Amino acid sequence: MNVDVLIVGQGICGTLLSWFLYKQNKSFIVIDHAAENSSSKVAAGIINPITGRRYVYTWMIEEVMPFALETYQNLGAHFNKQYIIPKSIIDFFPSAQMLDAFATRLTENDTFLHSFPDQNRFNQFFNYDFGCGEIRPAYIVNFPLLMAEWRKHLINTQCLKAEEFILNDLVVDKEQVRYRDITAQKIIMCDGIASLQNPWFQNLPFAPNKGEALIIECKELTREHIFKKGTMLVPLPEQHHYWVGSNYQWEFENDQPSERFYQQTVAHLKAWLKFPFEVLSHKAAIRPATLERRPFVGFHPQFPSIGILNGMGTKGSSLAPYFAHQLVQHLTGLSTIAAEADVQRFSRLLSK
Ligand SMILES: Cc1cc2nc3c(=O)[nH]c(=O)nc-3n(C[C@H](O)[C@H](O)[C@H](O)COP(=O)(O)OP(=O)(O)OC[C@H]3O[C@@H](n4cnc5c(N)ncnc54)[C@H](O)[C@@H]3O)c2cc1C
Repeated sequence: MNVDVLIVGQGICGTLLSWFLYKQNKSFIVIDHAAENSSSKVAAGIINPITGRRYVYTWMIEEVMPFALETYQNLGAHFNKQYIIPKSIIDFFPSAQMLDAFATRLTENDTFLHSFPDQNRFNQFFNYDFGCGEIRPAYIVNFPLLMAEWRKHLINTQCLKAEEFILNDLVVDKEQVRYRDITAQKIIMCDGIASLQNPWFQNLPFAPNKGEALIIECKELTREHIFKKGTMLVPLPEQHHYWVGSNYQWEFENDQPSERFYQQTVAHLKAWLKFPFEVLSHKAAIRPATLERRPFVGFHPQFPSIGILNGMGTKGSSLAPYFAHQLVQHLTGLSTIAAEADVQRFSRLLSK
């Protein structure tokens, strides 16, 4: 079988890359073994324009957020589903310092940060001593629904191989690659942290980062917003269900849920929420993050038939649409890849 592109992995990166190839009438096969604890399956899917304790803008947010919105809406229109919903973030300040930091940033720029005049609005639901502000616009992307629907489409169009990709069976030439009975002009690795074991890309400065989340049920809470007090509380499509997380572990022994996160998060929720809740499940995954917090996009400098779309870190829902599209535009000769994201910036490392 001959195709234009062979894609390894159908997390959010592989899903969006194959979507844009489909839109360009390119032929492709996706190989994915549906790992249960892939990063995309554990993520909350939040698009948050603000990052960190100093309330700075997320990298490239003014470009990537509108593009992400349009992409998920287009996908939604295609499948008659809603994959993205606007949901502003109510940020309960955990300390007087954070209240000050928010107030200072508010005076500098108010594109995404807003004061919330009705400070007592959430008193019946939450304990909060230092007030709250609002981050808007923000969105929730329903990764599980989107990836499941796209997978069905891939199966129906015979574009999916639901199996493990075995690196030893790959033969990479300058002009094309061969994988078992498939010949492709390009192979693009969208395999999340598995790329750390890939001989072509293992020298990239990945910085894998483990995160965990609880799924809880709470019958009395409001679903109007995403709520944040140190941790995020995100309404899920199922009634009364919320995603609660996360943490950022740079050192970890395995990819499994930990007792420590469970205990800490339950204690935090008991102090924060004014209503009882039940923990329904506990998940963990390793984010394909990078040392310089920029994605890895593009083709190997010495083996141009092998490419990568990876390293989305904590921002897969906003970065993946933009860079999947850019990679497809690059493939079709219509644009270049942003220098900060292009793996060509690591030419020396990749040539070792
Ligand atoms: C707890 C947590 C919360 C998060 N919350 C958010 C959030 O709110 N917003 C946000 O933007 N980001 C969030 N993220 C980050 C986000 O999940 C990632 O940026 C993104 O999902 C990475 O997607 P990916 O497609 O690169 O990798 P993955 O999701 O890991 O997908 C890789 C795919 O490749 C497949 N694969 C791997 N190896 C093979 C093989 N050998 N053969 C076949 N298939 C293979 C796997 O089965 C998987 O389907 C969160 C992450 C975590 C862990």
